Amino acid sequence: MADDLLDKGAIVQRDKETYAIAPHIPGGIITDFNLLRRLADVAEKFGVKAVKLTSAERFALVGLKPGDLDQAWQELGLIPGAAIGLCVRSIKICPGTTFCRLGLQDAVGVGLKLDEKYHGMPLPYKFKIGVSGCANNCSETSIKDLGLMGMNKGWRVLAGGYASGLHPRLADVIATGLSDAEALDHRPYPGLVQTDRKKEAPGQNHRRNRPGPIPDGTGPACGVSERSAVSSEQ
Ligand code: SF4
Repeated sequence: MADDLLDKGAIVQRDKETYAIAPHIPGGIITDFNLLRRLADVAEKFGVKAVKLTSAERFALVGLKPGDLDQAWQELGLIPGAAIGLCVRSIKICPGTTFCRLGLQDAVGVGLKLDEKYHGMPLPYKFKIGVSGCANNCSETSIKDLGLMGMNKGWRVLAGGYASGLHPRLADVIATGLSDAEALDHRPYPGLVQTDRKKEAPGQNHRRNRPGPIPDGTGPACGVSERSAVSSEQ
């Protein structure tokens, strides 16, 4: 039976014959508008069934034939193998002070740096990060595995939301009043591991085991397969 092709960033679809690819677009922000043209050209040329906008702010080209995957990536001008499977996924970023009149903190600047640092880092589980420029929480910071929320006096950091698991919960606040530099520093984040275990509700059987703090630095693209359809690539 066909399976995901991690080295090509390709996710097998429900028909078990075709694949979806979802190029990594940090923050879902496009300033090179030719990329949009290339996405449309590739979709048309290779006869995809649909272009799906995912909640992780990516364009998924759905329904590619396996023999077209390499050429599709080449014509997009992007590196194949955007992070899929068990790893730090796309980091959801709201417009923050860059574009939004309500923004209190620089969600785009901080979020893109987090993306650069952590996107694709292999982990034993999916790990989702959200960055919201204010308490309106448009990146669902409060239910992410790790979330930053912009407040008047700096960043509030939340951890342990498990948004993609069977037992989602409101994340715990692990730090407040952080500057951009402090929010980007990985040191507060190991705290989420202890938070996870202490706060787990009695009787809950979390499928996740958090073995330790998030390691520093970026890692290679995910190397552990987890079967997933585009619809779960959120
Ligand atoms: S979270 Fe706040 S800053 Fe971000 S898009 Fe929503 S309203 Fe704007």
